[in-house]
Amino acid sequence: MVVLEDVNKHFGDLHVLKDINLTVHQGEVVVVIGPSGSGKSTLCRTINRLETYESGTITIHGDRLPEEGKALAKLRADVGMVFQSFNLFSHKTILENVTMGPIKVRGVKSADAKKRAMELLERVGVAHQAAKYPAQLSGGQQQRVAIARSLAMEPTVMLFDEPTSALDPEMINEVLDVMIQLAKSGMTMIVVTHEMGFARKAADRVVFMSDGAILEENNPEQFFTNPQTDRCKDFLGKIL
Ligand code: ADP
Ligand code: MG
Repeated sequence: MVVLEDVNKHFGDLHVLKDINLTVHQGEVVVVIGPSGSGKSTLCRTINRLETYESGTITIHGDRLPEEGKALAKLRADVGMVFQSFNLFSHKTILENVTMGPIKVRGVKSADAKKRAMELLERVGVAHQAAKYPAQLSGGQQQRVAIARSLAMEPTVMLFDEPTSALDPEMINEVLDVMIQLAKSGMTMIVVTHEMGFARKAADRVVFMSDGAILEENNPEQFFTNPQTDRCKDFLGKIL
């Protein structure tokens, strides 16, 4: 589904992605963890073509990442992304936030987009808030709307970049629960998170990044009980 081969990227002198090789199969949930500054966000942004890269290849469904134009717009719709900050449109209602993309980008009829949006808002537990504006919702509710908004574009892959790290503790689980449901429904997911409970429950694989490189990759059980490198052991010692 998503294949990165020998991907390299620099920010000036900073070698931020070093020979990244990563394959994510259909329906797989891959959790990416690692210290701050290790390149996790850049990895997500590169997969979604929000960042360019200098060498290597990235393919999604066997197609190389497009540079621009319609193909790029299609890719962005195909690969949903949920960020730490929810990025909802503040002057649009919750319902409008979810229907806008399908109507404008996918050309879905307004009535159909609304029907689908309400189903998705139901699924993430905020349907009763549909007429409100983002500022009237809690952080956890806004992030669930952001997930619904991404899903409305019918992505085949979802990227999550620390989706719960801006949330108050009591709201983290309501967002993780939605993500666990999504994982169970068979969505292909790449999730940057330090929520190890989520990794244990939902991940097929955990990938450890440090200094722009993937140092370890294993199933959650092996990963947590038997880390291979000192850097990974050290990191797990700090967060567990
Ligand atoms: P992480 O998400 O693991 O914390 P990032 O991918 O955000 O790491 O950042 C990796 C490194 O790249 C950091 O050293 C960061 O300062 C640097 N970096 C990120 N974005 C930019 C940018 N747009 N320009 C220059 N340096 C950047
Ligand atoms: Mg980051």
